[in-house]
Amino acid sequence: MTAQILDGKKVATDVRAQIAKEVEQTEGITPGLAVVLVGDDQASQVYVRNKEKACNSVGINSFMHLLPASTRQEELLDLIKKLNADSKVHGILVQLPVPPQIDPDIILQAIDPTKDVDGFHPFNTGKLMAGLKTFVPCTPRGIMHLLAAYNISLAGKHAVVVGRSNIVGKPMASLLMARDATVTVCHSKTSDLKEFTRSADILVVAVGRPRLITADMVKPGAVVVDVGINRLPEGLVGDVDFDTVKEVASYITPVPGGVGPLTIAMLLQNTLESALDK
Ligand code: NDP
Repeated sequence: MTAQILDGKKVATDVRAQIAKEVEQTEGITPGLAVVLVGDDQASQVYVRNKEKACNSVGINSFMHLLPASTRQEELLDLIKKLNADSKVHGILVQLPVPPQIDPDIILQAIDPTKDVDGFHPFNTGKLMAGLKTFVPCTPRGIMHLLAAYNISLAGKHAVVVGRSNIVGKPMASLLMARDATVTVCHSKTSDLKEFTRSADILVVAVGRPRLITADMVKPGAVVVDVGINRLPEGLVGDVDFDTVKEVASYITPVPGGVGPLTIAMLLQNTLESALDK
């Protein structure tokens, strides 16, 4: 069996077209996203540029703030205070990682939770855990959207999430549980990872280790979602050994072109919803 590709690029294109239509129809208000980057991390620069382009493509205003690596925490907090108070800004995103003199937790907690379109403020992560309406972090929200777009049912399925970060793994587990999957979360201290991944009907991998998941670790017919982005000399690869796993799985996301495009689409969606809520 060769798996069907979960085409994140195509699904994201549809989402973006819908957002562009809604932005156009929204009278008297143009959604605005402030993107803050501190320092010159190359991957982060690519990410923020892509976010800016994505905003422009759907009619969302983007306000870019590129700060030097030497920026002090107080200076960044001052900027966030201004953005919190700016009525043209409906979403605020601070690109991580930040330089070592800045505490990311303090920064994320300084963002007004009603403008926290990344969904990283503890107020919003708490609401997500409690099953309340909130900003859902973009990558897990994008994965849920992708699974729904392919009518993949979750109720009663065993979902295994590899990775327990606040950005991907933990919110992913919450969302799957809320949709009635039985969820197992694995991490670097999990003994015998394969024992868990082999029993997954839905396998979501967000680790950052190139091709960690091999075909022998996947249950035949499983749905495999690869969040990983690893830059190797040969190009971008995921956390899943795509070429072998696609022969075992029923559905699989490619890297690139899988989860990544949905992450950006959901950032736009969260920004639009924030603007409409105001
Ligand atoms: P983190 O580094 O924050 O978390 C990685 C997680 O993987 C941790 O929970 C860690 O365990 C676990 N882990 C590490 N090694 C192993 C192992 N050998 N076996 C099992 N678990 C392991 O990463 P992120 O969650 O932020 O990102 C994960 C990957 O996803 C990265 O490649 C990142 O670039 C990519 N990413 C892609 C996005 C997209 O849009 N496509 C968006 C966000 C991230 P422990 O907690 O014990 O340390």
